Amino acid sequence: MSNIILKIDNVQKSFGGLKALSDLFLEVEEGKVHAIIGPNGAGKSTMLNVCIGRLAPDSGTVTFNGQNMIGKQPHEINQAGISRVFQTPEIFPDLSILQNVMIPAMARREGSFKFNMFRSLSSETEIVDEAYKVLEDIGLLDQLHHHAGSMSRGDKRRLELAMCLVQHPKLLLLDEPTAGMARHDTNKTIDLLKKIKERGMTKVIIEHDMHVVFSVADHISVLAQGTIIASGTPDEIRGNPKVQEAYLGGAHL
Ligand code: ADP
Ligand code: MG
Repeated sequence: MSNIILKIDNVQKSFGGLKALSDLFLEVEEGKVHAIIGPNGAGKSTMLNVCIGRLAPDSGTVTFNGQNMIGKQPHEINQAGISRVFQTPEIFPDLSILQNVMIPAMARREGSFKFNMFRSLSSETEIVDEAYKVLEDIGLLDQLHHHAGSMSRGDKRRLELAMCLVQHPKLLLLDEPTAGMARHDTNKTIDLLKKIKERGMTKVIIEHDMHVVFSVADHISVLAQGTIIASGTPDEIRGNPKVQEAYLGGAHL
């Protein structure tokens, strides 16, 4: 039987008079890559921000691993096992690539950013080893002492992904991980997403690039005007006339 790791039930969120999310329902199966597609302004980022505690919904519930997430602080949700990659990379530009990856690795080990210095020093070697391993997976090992601020946009996005992976999340949320990338960077990211898929980590990926969506997704949900209008396998979504009408104005997926 399938296990639902994330359930969003009847979530509403308005900004002033604008209904960004209405009657939103979504179930994400454990171990799957679940893509969310939909036009600009559909509410995709708002949905993600509700899941990570950055935005409080007006009503409704978000359940992760059987636990209610509503009312929890972002760091508590992160500790519960949800990590996210934002639309705009959030890295420490003045630190090296290695240091950027070590910070979340340390935070995870200590359960908080305020950690005991002496205990931390003793586990530093393990943290460095772990950071190296993730940077190797991501393909940034040859640049580990470079300043993060001077990286290309594509590499910054991959660094942010490394910062998430080092926390070993149960659920990884990605908001348009290939936005603004050139094709060869997009292809590198697709390869990377496939590689980390083998680790069995559940992923929710918001993505506008259909090539990426159909390369990595097990399941696709379509969000339009704040609500899910269709959900299914990539083949079901590709052939769904409602989706083509609402999302692509009749163009073929
Ligand atoms: P998407 O990620 O699908 O492009 P968003 O979730 O960013 O869509 O936005 C959904 C709608 O909510 C849009 O109309 C957007 O302008 C509006 N919106 C998003 N965040 C805010 C905010 N903080 N304040 C006011 N309106 C917002
Ligand atoms: Mg968005």
